[in-house]
Amino acid sequence: MNYRIIVHYAELALKGKNRSDFVKRLRINIRRKLRSLGYEWDVLSIHDRIFVEAGNVASDQADQVVKEVARIPGIAWLSYVHWFAEKQYRFLQAEPDMKPIHDLIKEMAVQTYQKGKSFALKVKRSDKNFRIPSRQLSIDLAKSIVDNSEWQDVDLQHADQFFYVNISSRGISVHTNKIIGSGGLPVSSTGRVLTLLSGGFDSPVAAWLMANRGCNVDFVHFSASHHQLKDVEDYKISRIVKKISEITGRAKLYIVPYTHFDMALLEHDLAYDLILFRRFMARVAERIMLKDNSQALVTGDNLGQVASQTLENINSMNQAITTPILRPLITYNKEQIIDISKQLDLFDVCCEPYKDCCALISKSPKTKSKTELLSKLETSFLANYEALISDTLSEMTEVVYNFGHLEHKIHVNE
Ligand code: ATP
Ligand code: MG
Repeated sequence: MNYRIIVHYAELALKGKNRSDFVKRLRINIRRKLRSLGYEWDVLSIHDRIFVEAGNVASDQADQVVKEVARIPGIAWLSYVHWFAEKQYRFLQAEPDMKPIHDLIKEMAVQTYQKGKSFALKVKRSDKNFRIPSRQLSIDLAKSIVDNSEWQDVDLQHADQFFYVNISSRGISVHTNKIIGSGGLPVSSTGRVLTLLSGGFDSPVAAWLMANRGCNVDFVHFSASHHQLKDVEDYKISRIVKKISEITGRAKLYIVPYTHFDMALLEHDLAYDLILFRRFMARVAERIMLKDNSQALVTGDNLGQVASQTLENINSMNQAITTPILRPLITYNKEQIIDISKQLDLFDVCCEPYKDCCALISKSPKTKSKTELLSKLETSFLANYEALISDTLSEMTEVVYNFGHLEHKIHVNE
């Protein structure tokens, strides 16, 4: 069977003169995603839609590809259609042979039947040279369904199952229900951000929300221990980034051991160590962002989720760097976050236990902090901050994924 995927973008259509850039971006992203799945298909933009020429593939294969494509940011909804080219079928001639359409509709009706549910069939004729009026064709095709399958109840407004037939000068397309995408904007259309990624649920969801607003998203994780390059892909954090990159495309992950910071504070039992650590992460991340031209840092912070996530502590972290820190989850509740994590197929990997213990992190972190006091503590206990940052960066590992495939991994300074 010949398939086409028809992609509708909602928000993109509103973007005035930038619109063509956004559409081009989305087309590129779809083509790259398809390539990562092993398909070199044409991706064309015609009027206000994107068409993917899938060609001759098995229906279960088409099903699988469409589900994957639907996850790409910037897509409102899509459908995969069975395509009958005018060149081959000549529907515009005086007495068109509609048998292929009837045969397909019957087959689709049998496959989609659900007991106790209703159906509707909609015909749209955009080329009036086609001789059969839409109403007549709808009645004929609906009759084919009722006569050849168990579907009996028609409900034109609120049907459970729709069948669509669109007639254009280039051919006829037939499809069933739409597949809803995540909306938003195509990755690479609004800038680059770096996400502080911990082993929990929140930060991966925060990263995805930014990708869905059109950002390229890279990641940095601060780990208590060093990791061997040979098994870095097995590391929970790498597997989270790999999964996100299936949706967002190319993603860098920096793994940064924070042993130097840990050692510096080891001797001191500081109730402020958590907030000092956040400021340290922000400063190291800012250096990475400078190198990569990233415009904002992203965290999974959520106001009041844990005792230390207070406005005072958020402020103290912001004061450590000049780059903006974005917190897309600041008002979300845990159920909303878990729901998104399940939709993104990230829930299972985020649930895995993650042992990354360190001497750091006091039992009762301070819920209020003042920048002046923190600066004093930093001067006393982390006197050579610049050396601390460069020593830390010298132990960094970089792992790059592209649509779920490992692209490369290196110890940055070797
Ligand atoms: P998550 O927020 O990812 O579910 P969590 O709630 O345990 O994990 P917190 O300790 O509340 O994380 O930290 C808040 C935010 O700080 C995280 O969302 C993440 O952006 C950042 N963060 C915390 N620990 C690390 C780390 N080891 N490396 C990088 N970023 C971190
Ligand atoms: Mg959290």
